[in-house]
Amino acid sequence: MKSSIVVGLQWGDEGKGKIIDAVSPSFDYVVRWNGGNNAGHTVVVDGKRFPLSLVPSGVLQKKKLLIAQGVVINPKVLLSEIKMLKDAGYPVDLTIDPRCHIVMPYHGALDAANEAWKGRDATGSLHLGIGYCYEDRNNRAGIRLEFLVRPRVLQEELERIVPLKIAIIKKAYGVKTDFTVQSILDEYIPYGKKLKPYLGDVSSLITYQRITHTFLFEQAHGTMLDPVFGTYPFTVAPPTIAGAVFGMVGVPAVPVNVLGVVKAYTTRVGNGPFPTELLDKTGDAIRKTGNEFGTVSKRPRRVGWLDLPLLRYAVRLNGVREIAITKLDVLSGIAVLRVCIGYRCRGKILREFPSEISLLPDCMPVYKQLPGWQEDISRVRRRNDLPKQALMYLSFLERELAVPIRFISVGADRTALINL
Ligand code: GDP
Repeated sequence: MKSSIVVGLQWGDEGKGKIIDAVSPSFDYVVRWNGGNNAGHTVVVDGKRFPLSLVPSGVLQKKKLLIAQGVVINPKVLLSEIKMLKDAGYPVDLTIDPRCHIVMPYHGALDAANEAWKGRDATGSLHLGIGYCYEDRNNRAGIRLEFLVRPRVLQEELERIVPLKIAIIKKAYGVKTDFTVQSILDEYIPYGKKLKPYLGDVSSLITYQRITHTFLFEQAHGTMLDPVFGTYPFTVAPPTIAGAVFGMVGVPAVPVNVLGVVKAYTTRVGNGPFPTELLDKTGDAIRKTGNEFGTVSKRPRRVGWLDLPLLRYAVRLNGVREIAITKLDVLSGIAVLRVCIGYRCRGKILREFPSEISLLPDCMPVYKQLPGWQEDISRVRRRNDLPKQALMYLSFLERELAVPIRFISVGADRTALINL
């Protein structure tokens, strides 16, 4: 079992980028397999922040990089990210599957128009059009990367697709549009030319090399944003759970290690259920210390206590074998910590997140209190050097989830890591 999948076990923003950066030296390839540029990873190297939204985080360890067909690509964003990395001295040895779908201007326009239509019930999308790109893929109205690099095919497809998009935006939503087939061609044909050198069959590459090489599969978003197993409908369009990797890449299902990333508390961006949400001063303090503002959106993230029913569910769904806990340093200075150990729901105690989301309004978190610690732990590099209260917090988690902790992250920088 040489290859590994890294998955966030909460609502995203767990700090996966940093953990992927830490583990990627032991792999030959780092593979991004879902999501679009609405999901950002931030890696900090020597004090410099690298916000990555499409290029796999292994780039900062100078690894070979793959983008699998399950990812949707905004070509402008990808090209500017590649340039930013090359300018900073990082080689971008990247192969992109030609089956990947391309985010087009009408996807963003539809996204914005639909969110405005939904008003208070809006999902909280960033209007980047990612969900609409996946919708077109499923509805056989998408533009694949292979079309983008062939101008004649691109033109034929756009002539088939764009008139209906314009009609929907104008007539259904009553919103003006400023694009035409020609304006899209003018912008996108040059993108295709620039991306052509990166094309390669990622599915076949991984399948044939999986015995001789090792692969690290990096997830975007988090388990609870999965469109089926997450907090539907406040979820994302592509699957996010580890088992989906095989279909999203196009490789046979074989055993791989699953490393689950857990933030030491819980956050979520946008609307939707959040049983352990903190709407008080403690929540504000954690948001400030943890710099809980979106990498891409800069929106303040909602903050809450650690939620064991949610984590037990995520551990089970993904088949997690080991855990990386991040942002433990952010909890320093809080006198009493609370951890949700179950939900009280209609006279029962649920140990796991319910399969019926509509039960959540009747679920009240049951908390256990644990003592906090005052010390700054950001310079600690050995588990046993942590304050005893922090050790208690970690052991409690390990016991409750029945999964060993392999990494403890105590700061944003690459070096602020306890590797067990
Ligand atoms: P991802 O999408 O799961 O990679 O998470 P994000 O990049 O959106 O958010 C994680 C943020 O927390 C980034 O700004 C990281 O630099 C930062 N970060 C990661 N680990 C730690 C940590 O242990 N402590 C602190 N203070 N910040 C961290």
